Amino acid sequence: MIINMSERATEQEIQHVIDRIKEAGYQAHVTRGAERTIVAAIGSGGRRHELEALQAAPGVEAVVAIAQPFKLVSKQVKPSGTVVDVAGVRIGAGEVVVIAGPCSVESREQMLSTAHAVKNAGAVMLRGGAYKPRTSPYDFQGLGLEALKILDEVRHATGLPVVTEVMSTEDVDAICEYADMLQVGARNMQNFALLRCLAKVGRPILLKRGPSSTVKEWLLAAEYLLAGGNSQVVLCERGIKTFETETRNTFDLAAIALAKELSHLPVIADPSHGTGRRSIIAPLCRAALAVGADGIIVEVHPCPERALSDGPQSLDFQGFEMVMRSLQEPLASIAKPAFATSGAA
Ligand code: PEP
Ligand code: MN
Repeated sequence: MIINMSERATEQEIQHVIDRIKEAGYQAHVTRGAERTIVAAIGSGGRRHELEALQAAPGVEAVVAIAQPFKLVSKQVKPSGTVVDVAGVRIGAGEVVVIAGPCSVESREQMLSTAHAVKNAGAVMLRGGAYKPRTSPYDFQGLGLEALKILDEVRHATGLPVVTEVMSTEDVDAICEYADMLQVGARNMQNFALLRCLAKVGRPILLKRGPSSTVKEWLLAAEYLLAGGNSQVVLCERGIKTFETETRNTFDLAAIALAKELSHLPVIADPSHGTGRRSIIAPLCRAALAVGADGIIVEVHPCPERALSDGPQSLDFQGFEMVMRSLQEPLASIAKPAFATSGAA
């Protein structure tokens, strides 16, 4: 249930509602908007009728049931969008945020040259995997701590905040020491022990959608983070498994639009993993932004043919510059509906 306080509700009235929610056996989560405060009653097993009775409490405008199984991530609880601040980069604030970098951190030189190239082309954050979730145990697994130290050096040298994947609860402290944002990879979206642990860290989280997860499951995974105390969460659509084999995954544009409709959390689009094909990254970046994504994350490598992971979907520096240039063209130039271009019937 959510308790919408009236615009004129006093601090005392808000506190009274919080106290009553707790007495009724629920947790109270307070969201203070520019105009009004919303208090969400979260949990199960409490006395629901006591919440309904808060309709009569002073300062309360309405008591409304939350229609969705996810609560704190729901737009109903926070109609205005959340802005997630990653070391000064504001995701969800209106400006398109571009995150770029290689799939894996391979060397200091590789990261430094990539960071400078993507920054010059307009990226505002750097990506790079230190711990890699690989389908085969014989593939490159990432440089681990050595990679984290490289990321740390490069973020200081370039001023670009870095995002890197966390695969296990035991690596959380080390990654928090060296990275500005922690990525929960697609394969770990429903690793609930990891989510519970990340709910307690003071770092923003980039939560990728699982390859076989519904939008509801994705939002419920985000709910673990918010319910546990971390409200700095960014969703990332990276494609799902379908029968199609020409692309690595099926990049789900509808999921981006739907996540924006259902939730107040920012959404980032990952067409690199979403397609597995560098040749179609530019149009899909544009499509993702057209359906409401707050930014994009793309893989860039100094020499994709030598990449230790995900070379076929990685852009080289020139390719990335071209993608960035294409993002500056007005979207209208690609949206030529048939009735505008066809001649007389
Ligand atoms: C990655 O970002 O390199 C990665 C492994 O992503 P995903 O979890 O989406 O496959
Ligand atoms: Mn990758």
